[in-house]
Amino acid sequence: MLKKIPLHTQIIIGLVLGLIFGLVVVKFGFSKDFTINFIKPVGTIFINALKMIAVPLVLASLIVGVSNLGDISKLSRIGGKTIATYMITTIIAVSLGLGLVNLFKPGNSLPDETREKLMAQFEGDVGTKMGQAAELKEQGPLQPLVDMVPQNFFLATTDNTSMLQVVFFAIIAGIGLLQIPKEKAAPVIAFFDGFNDLIIQIVNYIMMIAPYGVFALMASLIVEITGDDPDSAVDLLLALLKYSLVVIGGLLLMIMGIYPGILKLFTKVRYIDFFKAIRPAQLLAFSTSSSSATLPVTMKQVEEELGVSEEVSSFVLPLGATINMDGTSLYQGVAAVFIAQALGMELTLTQQLMIVLTATLASIGSAGVPGAGLIMLIIVLESIGVPAAGIALIIAPDRILDMFRTVVNVTGDATVCTVVASTEGELPDGLIRQSNPLTATVAE
Ligand code: ASP
Repeated sequence: MLKKIPLHTQIIIGLVLGLIFGLVVVKFGFSKDFTINFIKPVGTIFINALKMIAVPLVLASLIVGVSNLGDISKLSRIGGKTIATYMITTIIAVSLGLGLVNLFKPGNSLPDETREKLMAQFEGDVGTKMGQAAELKEQGPLQPLVDMVPQNFFLATTDNTSMLQVVFFAIIAGIGLLQIPKEKAAPVIAFFDGFNDLIIQIVNYIMMIAPYGVFALMASLIVEITGDDPDSAVDLLLALLKYSLVVIGGLLLMIMGIYPGILKLFTKVRYIDFFKAIRPAQLLAFSTSSSSATLPVTMKQVEEELGVSEEVSSFVLPLGATINMDGTSLYQGVAAVFIAQALGMELTLTQQLMIVLTATLASIGSAGVPGAGLIMLIIVLESIGVPAAGIALIIAPDRILDMFRTVVNVTGDATVCTVVASTEGELPDGLIRQSNPLTATVAE
């Protein structure tokens, strides 16, 4: 009889074996094509399956969640609390990043020769990213508000980056259901309720292939980032080690210090229980680098493991996956100052405060997909007069740092969701429910 292995342990095993497999392939230079042609697709199928259910899940759970709230004043109370807490955690994150990068000054020790090499090597990439950022910058200041309202609801549901539009429609629909006659609303709510349970069941199926998906993602990632010249890739990563360590150190402080502090202040949930509950979501965030793809699992975990109600989680988490990115804003703060330091520019206090403002806004504007934070960083740089071409200096380790910052993005969303639920009196004693198959054991 097979010994029972919890799913999150299986995911960790998949992650580690994938890393080892990728390193062996790179080191000995064999089966690279095999990895890309036959292993990578398993990872792509896994991420696609998660993305496939993100929109239907948000739509169904939010409509049911809002219509079950019973009254609109509760919705505005929860909404206000959620947005305020999201803003505060983001500002804490950027400020922490700025504090660390000013303390350790990783940019000052970057040798001139390395700087020139990096600038030359990534010139082409910078051009593409600047093009993408320019499109964003041409828009007026109220564009994010305009973007929230879809011209065509069905079109919005066909694009995972339009999640905010789906959230907008679902909230309006939920409010509408509260105000039309009960007998008319009941079948609509019942339909979405059943639909929601169906989606959760599909998440269970997808999670069955999670360990293999994560293995495939890790193995192909290593093969792809090292490219044809693994030695020079390693050299580049080492040159940027100090910078990467400052980013990762800041992210760790968020996870080990700030979030536990917030939970302690506002809830009775023990951090260890919180951590255990959201572990599968963190592991997925790490391996997919996408808060949107992780969203279905984050929602499932906080509901089933922490006892957060569907009405709170289905409102707070989809919003968080779109607008709350603590990890991304911390990284943008560190990266902007690092680039300035490496280019020999002194930043004034006003410029640093400007970073707090623009990184907060930029993280709200970043979509929950891989690499979004890097594009928005260009806007932060331009606001303080640092040449955007400077992002060439940090592109090399970005894919890896993206994995770490996405873990923080998802953990931040789950923390705020737990705080909102607790202040709504939903988690009186921080009890953990034990019904979730994701953390329960599988396979006899
Ligand atoms: N990958 C991040 C996320 O999905 C966004 C970013 O910082 O690039 O949360």
